[in-house]
Amino acid sequence: MDVGEALEEAVFSLIRSGHSNTPQMDAELLLAHAKNSSVTHLLTWPSEKLTLDEEAAFRNYLKRREKKEPIALILGHQDFWSMTLKVNEHTLVPRPDTECLVEWIIHQPLETAVVCDAGTGTGAIALAIAGEKPNWQVFAMEKSTQALAVACENQQLLELPVAFFQGDWLSAVAEDSFDILVSNPPYIPANDKHLADLTYEPRSALVAKKQGLSDIEIIVGQAKNCLKAHGYLVVEHGFDQGYCVQEIFKEAGFSGIETHQDYGKNDRFTVGVNACGDAGLHA
Ligand code: GLN
Repeated sequence: MDVGEALEEAVFSLIRSGHSNTPQMDAELLLAHAKNSSVTHLLTWPSEKLTLDEEAAFRNYLKRREKKEPIALILGHQDFWSMTLKVNEHTLVPRPDTECLVEWIIHQPLETAVVCDAGTGTGAIALAIAGEKPNWQVFAMEKSTQALAVACENQQLLELPVAFFQGDWLSAVAEDSFDILVSNPPYIPANDKHLADLTYEPRSALVAKKQGLSDIEIIVGQAKNCLKAHGYLVVEHGFDQGYCVQEIFKEAGFSGIETHQDYGKNDRFTVGVNACGDAGLHA
């Protein structure tokens, strides 16, 4: 079987499965992976033959994709910001919308800053910030041992200065530690219908109690102590959670609360300023 035939057959079978919106691209990426080659190479040499091992690997990847497994988990990597990150079944696959949080943060006019990414997963947010802001000090926390191993591997491959620690959100962090605290926590309600499409990623990285808000409540509460006065809290959330997250920020005493949208024009993250120092002054 040659490359052209393999691709044609794969595209048909992906369309038949009904689980891929991008069958041509999926087939090309999976075949390039099976041949340890590039998509450009495949398209340039369509009559190149597949070895038996390559054909077997390709059929295996296709079968997985036809059962809805995300391409990133089959390939073992995902692009985020300007980086290629390792991912596996223990981590959330970084989403493009999370880049909007990175963009907001790196546009803050701070010469130096101490930043923490809580629940870092693959390390995506922390590593992206470290790459853009060499003068900032970047920390990241992660509860899962397996996810932390992926984050550390990404850090070593990218050679970016992020200090990773294991911890349950910010419970182990000292008071007044950070200028900016960012998190993409689990926020999907347990009864959300979108979960049917997200069966390959760890539930602990996706789903939270209290209509998806329980971890955000914990993070916002802990952030009050861990942030320096006037420090920023930046939290990702669901498209319909902006109002509730703003209320959680308000109740905790944050000021300057704003919700921002993602690339698809959905509410995606809320920011607030730790106003703790001011309360005393105005009392
Ligand atoms: N935004 C992701 C999704 O809906 C979920 C990410 C998360 O729970 N932090 O696919």
